[in-house]
Amino acid sequence: MSRYVFGPIASRRLGASLGVDLVRAKTCSLDCVYCEAGATTCHTLERTEAVPVDAVISELRQVLQTAPELDFITFSGAGEPTLNSRIGDVIRFLKKEFPQYKVCLLTNACGLYDPALRRELTGLDVVIPSLDASNEAEFQKINRPAPGLTFEMLMAGLRAFCQESTARILLELFIVPGVNDSPESVERFASLIKDLRVERIQLNMLDRPGVAGWVIPAPPETVEHFRKVLEKIVPVDCAAPRKEENAADAVRRTEMVCRILELTAREACAAASLAEAVQVELPVVEANLKRLISAGLLQKLPDGKVIAKQPAG
Ligand code: SF4
Repeated sequence: MSRYVFGPIASRRLGASLGVDLVRAKTCSLDCVYCEAGATTCHTLERTEAVPVDAVISELRQVLQTAPELDFITFSGAGEPTLNSRIGDVIRFLKKEFPQYKVCLLTNACGLYDPALRRELTGLDVVIPSLDASNEAEFQKINRPAPGLTFEMLMAGLRAFCQESTARILLELFIVPGVNDSPESVERFASLIKDLRVERIQLNMLDRPGVAGWVIPAPPETVEHFRKVLEKIVPVDCAAPRKEENAADAVRRTEMVCRILELTAREACAAASLAEAVQVELPVVEANLKRLISAGLLQKLPDGKVIAKQPAG
């Protein structure tokens, strides 16, 4: 039974992809509010041999000796693969013994500021890094980095990697309404991405519950705005919601939260008047207000009313 190698799975972007998991669930340098793998339990920047790489290599050899038809072998799984200090050994093994296969890395890009890691990643064919924040405030709110990690470090690493690596780079950007989708944010993304050697961008949005209940799917007009601005720089793809039923629920929740944010941006409002305005039962509105307050998007005033917080520059 394989412990570290899974699939092949049919991937939207990569075709038939054999997954390789190099860390234990859930080890990551981030704790993203939308993470489908759940909350990060080992929140760290430290690189260790998180799972035994000799065992990973022996599983890979066993599977690849059967010559499966694959489009990619992909470092993915429930956590950040580059936190395994021996990822370079696995890449070298694959390139030496099975050079006919293309190798891809899904990464949060947070470790790329380290030149040693960038060197270890030599030989990858495709890298899919994430960039969900256009400044430090959004980075803290959406990606919740491990202590010591800053947005500046993330960007410096991404820039250096884009210059040094020969891999194709396909960027992912997760839209979190109310945090990284203002016109100013979108412009900031555009100017950051202009400096990166990126072949395509994929826009992602919530299509199943993440870690934080307050994250809502991006409304179509928001996605369109991102697409319009970013397409001037690089081709843009969009991940569609998975199920129609979910999409309908998601749209209803999106509309309610957007309306609440809109009303509270103008003036402080009581929960009851918001419930009346959005025509949703008071307990449901109160639950959503709680989530928006804990996410730092609303603040509660001494008289019990709520008001939208201005995002920090
Ligand atoms: S970087 Fe990936 S694995 Fe880590 S918390 Fe974010 S979404 Fe989850």
